[in-house]
Amino acid sequence: MSSPKRYTITAALPYTNGPIHIGHLAGVYVPADIYSRYLKMRGEDVVFVCGSDEHGVPITIKAKKEGISPQDVVDKYDAIIRKSFQDFGIEFDNYSRTSGKTHHETASAFFKKLYEDGKFIEEVTEQLYDEEAKQFLADRFVVGTCPKCGYEESYGDQCEKCGTSHNATDLINPKSAITGNVPTLKETRHWFLPLDQYEPWLKEWILDSHKKDWRSNVYGQCKSWIDDGLRPRAVTRDLDWGIPVPVEGGEGKVLYVWFDAPIGYISATKEWAEQNNKDWEPYWKDEDTKLVHFIGKDNIVFHCIIFPTMLKAEGSYILPDNVPANEFLNLEGNKLSTSKNWAVWLHEYLEDFPGKEDVLRYVLTANAPETKDNDFTWKDYQQRNNSELVAIFGNFINRVAVLTHKYYEGKVPAAAELKEIDEQTLAELKAYPAVIASSIEKYRFREAQTEMMNLARLGNKYLADEEPWKTIKTDEERTQTVMYVALQIAAALATLCKPFLPFTSTKLNKMLALEDANFDWNAISSAKALLKEGHQINEAELLFSKVEDEEIQKQLDKLEATKKANIAEDKTAEPQKETATFEDFTKLDLRVGTIVEAEKMPKTKKLLILKVDTGIDTRTIVSGIAESFKPEDVVGKKVTVLVNLAPRKLRGTMSEGMILMTENADGKLVFVNPDEEKMNNGTVIS
Ligand SMILES: [Zn+2]
Repeated sequence: MSSPKRYTITAALPYTNGPIHIGHLAGVYVPADIYSRYLKMRGEDVVFVCGSDEHGVPITIKAKKEGISPQDVVDKYDAIIRKSFQDFGIEFDNYSRTSGKTHHETASAFFKKLYEDGKFIEEVTEQLYDEEAKQFLADRFVVGTCPKCGYEESYGDQCEKCGTSHNATDLINPKSAITGNVPTLKETRHWFLPLDQYEPWLKEWILDSHKKDWRSNVYGQCKSWIDDGLRPRAVTRDLDWGIPVPVEGGEGKVLYVWFDAPIGYISATKEWAEQNNKDWEPYWKDEDTKLVHFIGKDNIVFHCIIFPTMLKAEGSYILPDNVPANEFLNLEGNKLSTSKNWAVWLHEYLEDFPGKEDVLRYVLTANAPETKDNDFTWKDYQQRNNSELVAIFGNFINRVAVLTHKYYEGKVPAAAELKEIDEQTLAELKAYPAVIASSIEKYRFREAQTEMMNLARLGNKYLADEEPWKTIKTDEERTQTVMYVALQIAAALATLCKPFLPFTSTKLNKMLALEDANFDWNAISSAKALLKEGHQINEAELLFSKVEDEEIQKQLDKLEATKKANIAEDKTAEPQKETATFEDFTKLDLRVGTIVEAEKMPKTKKLLILKVDTGIDTRTIVSGIAESFKPEDVVGKKVTVLVNLAPRKLRGTMSEGMILMTENADGKLVFVNPDEEKMNNGTVIS
């Protein structure tokens, strides 16, 4: 879309069963905020919405665990999350809640419209049921093996490992998350969105029309789902926490959280429009509106396939123009994990680094996982603060402000005759807004921020080359000109750094006494002078300060302590299972075997297809070990094989047996194998 009339920008609704950490900020909220701030500085008509996602099963599980009501859970975390966003300058036009009245009405009406238009399939199906808990088991109430990648702790609605979304009944070996029992099947009526019927349209809309402008990770995931074939998805659940199904037969059921949550973007826009005396509809229904969803990669299927299908089925809504999903951010080489406390929590960060909101924003953008998973390390944080923000940006501004006060009592001097270097520097300055804009508009925020820093580098180098602290003794006019040019760069930075470093921008504008100037993005290039001669600036103030080694060590020690606690916790052995009789045991036929061939299962991350010599035969076994071992590492390995396990098909390949594995304290897979040489394949283990 070349010149949209207005923009609707959404950021993934954080799920209110815990606080948020740096991974959330890096993946979704900082890039969305940069984009929104930038557009507003260009004078565009923008609404930027988000809100707390407060329905769904995990919240009810958390409430049960803590012995409080689901409402108490969401009230607690909504307040914490809301404050974190304010603290880090994520400037939403409206941060709403899906438990609110407007949202309940909007989502309910949306469902009803699709229902009345006959867009759903209504089906009585067999759902997993926990006889002991007397309750249907939807989504996260079930845990089992992912049918796609073989991950054994996949949730009923989505596999955390491979990101695939599925129905709870698709899981292999499902178990109730409430009682641990094997669930039974029981009939219940539900409404399904027939995604399969929209497949031809999705192919055209995504695979044909968005091949070039969507990120390759987003496009690739969509393609893989569409190629695998889409199936109808239930949009209702047997649950008592959520938005009641508003049609006949819907008693005791609520809308699936993933059906209601994205409608939250619409509800949040409605609330905002009401508060600001505007019409919400053009922001969602006018073809000249550009709709952009900022999300993490685990949400791609919902924002690129399911929600657009809902919008398309409803008929009056526009579709997203882009969904710039980020990959994941890791912390010191390990996956961020709420349950393992492997995270930098936003509220804790500010206790340790008060006033350094922008430093975190800066480092997270500099390291943004835009095209691949990336790593946050404290060393890198320190280095970027000390040698970029302090040594380049801060140093330049400080020199400019201090020298202006020292030489001219804080008044911008008049420029004398401009030399070629001055003309060239000013011309470069004027080119920056377009360069940074071009990167932001392509959703390349790291690149955009690097360009912003290049402007600070330009200023730093200009001062170092022209040395006003030397010319002041010999050439009054030259010094005035150099300081005049340097002050223009400082003023440009105050505006251009705002999307990335909003707190710094405010401080710098105050220092340059520019609070009322309100430069918009375009004025940087068009204004004759950003700071006119004679303009009085305020006292110099340090924008950034060094982060010392001890502060970094403290953070590393904290993580080390978390690691130790996790290992200790992991060492608490699982409780012993039920007694097995000798007969039960002898049913298992365990043999010594050797892996003779290994290859990766195409399109999966976890599975290896192995050929194993069992002494009886050479057979195919599919094993979920690809994340721990490369195929070439396991060929020739002696292993323990359960040879009489009922064969089962995994991703189209028949697997005949199982290789025994365990896990070490770091969570790495380890083979259980005979520890003597000369073990013949086929030897019975008893
Ligand atoms: Zn999976």
